[in-house]
Amino acid sequence: MSAVLVLIDHHDGVLSKGSLELLTKARELGEVSAVFCGAGIEVARPALAEYGAATVFVVEGDATDRHPVAPTVGVLAALVEAHAPAVVLVVATIEGREVAGRLAVRLGSGVITDAVGIDADLVCDQQVFGGSTLVRSRVKRGTPVIAVRPNSWPAAPSPSTPAEVTVQPAPAASDVLATVVERVREAAGDRPDLADATIVVSGGRGLGNAEGFGLVEALADRLGAAVGASRAVTDAGWYPHAAQVGQTGRTVSPSLYVAVGISGAIQHRAGMQTSKTIVVVNKDREAPLFELADFGIVGDAHTVIPALLAELDRLST
Ligand code: FAD
Repeated sequence: MSAVLVLIDHHDGVLSKGSLELLTKARELGEVSAVFCGAGIEVARPALAEYGAATVFVVEGDATDRHPVAPTVGVLAALVEAHAPAVVLVVATIEGREVAGRLAVRLGSGVITDAVGIDADLVCDQQVFGGSTLVRSRVKRGTPVIAVRPNSWPAAPSPSTPAEVTVQPAPAASDVLATVVERVREAAGDRPDLADATIVVSGGRGLGNAEGFGLVEALADRLGAAVGASRAVTDAGWYPHAAQVGQTGRTVSPSLYVAVGISGAIQHRAGMQTSKTIVVVNKDREAPLFELADFGIVGDAHTVIPALLAELDRLST
């Protein structure tokens, strides 16, 4: 059975939801070899076993933590050379996409980013042009490198007893030119992480001001959702830039995306178009985002959201 190399995305050993989903898919494609870089393997071990890794390559030292991307690419390239896996999978975070691109160049391979589906024969699905077009593509050269969007399929456990293999990274001098001097962890808050969230409620300029944006937070909290924002909102300082969804922000693919007072510029769509169910609230029935909507409400957010909250309260009593 061919090996499937999975780069584990984690925070101090806590695997991201995207990693659990990748491990789930990797089991369908072959024997799972997880690659764990950075600190926290003690924390990660139970999840790696629960989600069916056959082998865990534990990368020693702090080179992959201290220097962004390039040493991780070096480790993966060496593992590909040594073990000839059928495919390399990474989570399509900003860093994951960069790892995928650089690794493909180093290997002389083809790369597919932002995949939302992978068949047994490694044909990938990507949704483009505002979700209106499904592209199916397969890497034809070298070891395929595929970056997968979180929330593309559900994670399911399948316990194993992984073998652990330590790896000594040997980064080239050119791989350590940039050094991370400090990492500052944002206060986590009670809301789920935007990239991992099953439900995202996002707000746009239509909320009027920072106070108006509070309606989006109220609805998000009522639904147990993450909060997203359009660039108009983050540029205006109504909400932190970390919450921006879109081409120059975060990419999300939740089960439910609720967009309130967002017009639907192509740059916003680029970050949310693969959401499973899209609900749009906008007072302009011609707003372009209605084209993507599974459910649309034409109305003023200041009326619609309080009404939704009241109805949710009524349903839960
Ligand atoms: P608007 O376009 O102003 O839309 C506001 C909407 O609210 C309108 O549809 C209006 O009908 C509706 N509305 C008004 N009042 C109400 C009300 N009371 N109730 C209900 N609805 C109401 N944008 C992103 O979001 N993410 C990105 O990553 C991003 N990257 C970009 C990169 C580049 C290079 C460029 C050039 C632009 C980028 N943009 C991005 C900006 C993008 O082009 C849009 O300008 C932005 O998405 C608009 O945000 P908005 O929909 O909140 O505001």
